Amino acid sequence: MIIDYIYPSRCFACAKELYFFTNKTLCFSCWKKIDFKARKCPICAQQKTSYCCKLKCGFAAFRCVSKYENTLKKLLIDFKFNQKVHYGPLLAALLFHSIKRSPFLKKVDCVIPVPITARKRFLRGYNQADIVAFHLAKKMRTFCMRHNLIKIKNTCSQSSLPKNQRLLNLKDTFFLRDGSALNNKNILLVDDICTTGSTLLECIRVLRQAKCQNIYVAVIAYS
Ligand SMILES: [Zn+2]
Ligand SMILES: [Zn+2]
Repeated sequence: MIIDYIYPSRCFACAKELYFFTNKTLCFSCWKKIDFKARKCPICAQQKTSYCCKLKCGFAAFRCVSKYENTLKKLLIDFKFNQKVHYGPLLAALLFHSIKRSPFLKKVDCVIPVPITARKRFLRGYNQADIVAFHLAKKMRTFCMRHNLIKIKNTCSQSSLPKNQRLLNLKDTFFLRDGSALNNKNILLVDDICTTGSTLLECIRVLRQAKCQNIYVAVIAYS
C-alpha cells in the first residue's frame, strides 16, 4: 500500500524499516533469530513434554516459543518494562504457533494468566501475562479467565533469591476467588517468562485445589 512508503512500519526488535513485508512486526533477520527448535520444559528439562512433565512438574504438558535470548529477549523486555503493550498480539501469535499442533489445544476450556499483585499492576499499568493470555485465548477461540487466580502478598523479587528459597518466598501468595468455576476444567496457564518454574509450580498447586481436570502450561520463553 502507498501508505507503507510514507509511514513504513518498523521491526519491533531492531527498529529497521519494513517496506515490502506483509508481516509488519518483525524483519526477516530478527524472525530468523528465534530458534523454534530450542524448546524444553525448564523444570524437568524435557524437550517433548508429556508424561514426564506430568509426573515431575504436575502439569499435563508444557509449551514455549523458545529460549529467552536474541529477538525474543528484546521483545519481552520492551513488552514488560517499556510499556510496549502493543507487542501483545505478536507474542500471543508466536505462542499460538508453538501450541497449535498440540493434542491438548482443542481440550482447553479456559486460559488463565499468571497474576501479579494489584500494586505491581498499578505501577506498571498492566500485567504482561494477562495481555498475552487474552490474545492467545482469542486465537484459540476459548475463554480467558482473568480475575480468578490472584496474587496477594508482595514477594521480594524471585530473581534476587537462591533457587531453594524461591518456592518458600511464594507460599500463600496465590489465591482463587472462585474455585468452583474451575471444577473439572482443562486449564491453560500462561506466563511470559519461566526461570526456575517456582511461580508456575505454586500457581499449579493452587489450581489443583480447585479440582480442575488438566493443567497445561504455555510460556513465551524460558531462561
Ligand atoms: Zn528486526
Ligand atoms: Zn516438565
